[in-house]
Amino acid sequence: RKGSVVITGASSGLGLATAKALAETGKWHVIMACRDFLKAERAAKSAGIAKENYTVMHLDLASLDSVRQFVDNFRQSGRPLDVLVCNAAVYLPTAKEPTFTAEGFELSVGTNHLGHFLLSRLLLEDLNKSDYPSKRLIIVGSITGNTNTLAGNVPPKANLGDLRGLAGGLNGLNSSSMIDGGEFDGAKAYKDSKVCNMLTMQEFHRRYHEETGITFASLYPGCIATTGLFREHIPLFRLLFPPFQKFITKGYVSEDEAGKRLAQVVSEPSLTKSGVYWSWNKNSASFENQLSQEASDAEKARKVWDLSEKLVGLA
Ligand code: NDP
Repeated sequence: RKGSVVITGASSGLGLATAKALAETGKWHVIMACRDFLKAERAAKSAGIAKENYTVMHLDLASLDSVRQFVDNFRQSGRPLDVLVCNAAVYLPTAKEPTFTAEGFELSVGTNHLGHFLLSRLLLEDLNKSDYPSKRLIIVGSITGNTNTLAGNVPPKANLGDLRGLAGGLNGLNSSSMIDGGEFDGAKAYKDSKVCNMLTMQEFHRRYHEETGITFASLYPGCIATTGLFREHIPLFRLLFPPFQKFITKGYVSEDEAGKRLAQVVSEPSLTKSGVYWSWNKNSASFENQLSQEASDAEKARKVWDLSEKLVGLA
């Protein structure tokens, strides 16, 4: 049978390119888990994804009710879950004030980390039930959360500190809206959320890989300077960022190429190792990359896991 893969945020950028790459093989049915149904349908059509190879299902990661509703709807569809890709993200680098999810969590960490945390925790059961030979749970990471790289050292740097803001609920009322308890900074909140994504993948690996055989992986697909991720940035940045990445840092990848990379992590028989953060070199060959000290801190991963469980109502 065809593989059945859920991709969050498949209505644009990397998620859409991955959906397209997988659908084109004829071996996958893609469930596009998106907050804007019409946009997702249009995106699938204009990418030329054949009707029989995808289904759009509503998911708003900025609402935990919506996450639970999605899980119910998915179960009712009767489809198996073979691979889950947590890809959606928001990036608010120019925001002066924090904005919040339905439950009152700062929007970047609330969407990118907490929404995906609840989703993946609930869907682990469904992955477990699948009889697919290579089951995978993939959480898209980023170099920007990685302070052992050049790009990860552009201020403001990711830093989760002692997690006091996360412990307080990130609500900006009786706690800070930032994980480390500091002043709101949209660019930093995004990087912090990506560190949480990478810590969560490793904690999943430690807790569940042996018992379930599921492959847990993260990746940095390269700098896809043209996606909607930069839509909130100032116009001059959006104009200069793609050529800067193409010609100066040479970290640029097209959406197509990045989609093929993530599709490899979903389906390549050679990429079944669990607990790995994949990257690609200039010749587009994949390799196991090193994470920064904070992004590979097992003690912090456990604390983030425990605090996140409380915030999303699992503990
Ligand atoms: P895009 O902005 O193009 O795509 C993000 C997707 O997330 C969109 O489909 C968006 O939906 C969706 N999304 C946002 N908020 C929600 C929500 N509340 N509920 C459901 N879906 C939501 O960005 P990219 O494709 O660049 O980003 C994809 C992933 O790649 C992210 O995890 C990002 O961190 C990562 N990444 C990107 C890099 C880059 O250079 N672009 C580099 C490294 C990592 P909608 O279409 O409705 O807005």
